[in-house]
Amino acid sequence: MPHTLRSTVTHFLNRTLDATPIRELAILSDMTGTLLDQTDDGSGFAPSLRAAVANFVEAGGVFVLISGDSEAIVEDQFLRRLPPGIGPVFFAPASGSKIGCWRSDSAGTSPEILFELPPAPPSTLRALTQRVEQILAERVPGFRFTPEQREVFLSPAGGRPDVSGQLGLGEIAWVECRPDKGFAIFFPGSRRAAGLACQLIDDVAYDSEIRTIAEDSQLRIIRGANFCDVILSDKGAAVNRIRQLPALAPLLDRRTLIVLGDGRNDLEMYAAAADGVHVFVGAEEDFTTVTGGGDRAIHIPGFTRGTEVFLDALASSRTSPVARSDESGR
Ligand SMILES: [Mg+2]
Repeated sequence: MPHTLRSTVTHFLNRTLDATPIRELAILSDMTGTLLDQTDDGSGFAPSLRAAVANFVEAGGVFVLISGDSEAIVEDQFLRRLPPGIGPVFFAPASGSKIGCWRSDSAGTSPEILFELPPAPPSTLRALTQRVEQILAERVPGFRFTPEQREVFLSPAGGRPDVSGQLGLGEIAWVECRPDKGFAIFFPGSRRAAGLACQLIDDVAYDSEIRTIAEDSQLRIIRGANFCDVILSDKGAAVNRIRQLPALAPLLDRRTLIVLGDGRNDLEMYAAAADGVHVFVGAEEDFTTVTGGGDRAIHIPGFTRGTEVFLDALASSRTSPVARSDESGR
């Protein structure tokens, strides 16, 4: 019952945040699954959520997006879809290998990059491509990347071609290779990979050769519910960097952090902001594992719908019932 859920969330926010106004809050948020629905065709970043994020920023809240996706995808799917005139919004795409600041205006300002890790070396990406191809061929005899896919993997921007046809799968199967992120295998069509998709994720995540390549290149392996990332950084490192970055630290210093996420690759983000309030919108069985539970954590089921309930409850619970005369006319 939505009304009861909303009351529960409001009660939780009033208990954990007391009367803290939005201008003293910062949200550290995941993107895909939490703000963007990829499983329903075309819904993506829903207008209601765009408005809720914009309202939070306009009320003085700091919004930091920490996404496992690359900068190009974060820009296309999230930043460019925010209402015009909003900002600043901070973002750390590719699991924290970059940190940027985005302001949208009529001139269509491009993001300002505040921090950036050096890209993964081509030799590492080539070794990962080769080993992942072998792993996939062990499950699906005859599997090969096409010459076009190989070209995408080794191009400067990288990409994520769909290999579902070669795997004989009826769902999208992305193999992603990007110098600014690392390597990934991702099944975006279902919240939780099953059958062959699940086996392939495990095969990649627990392969000793992949682990050796990752250790040698200081990449992190993250096994999620429907993906395995072998990436430059992780969301925990991103949170730590964001909190220490000279451009951001003064802004975040005295604010209460609210961490918002939905899955396994958010675990490090919650751990790095253990002092914050933890909101989780993913599957119930992941809630305690990912957030650590406790009385400053809440599970709001429903992925993007859960996020909407949270942002609505946050906005309405922070609205002072008493109009203040010293702020009139501003
Ligand atoms: Mg997610």
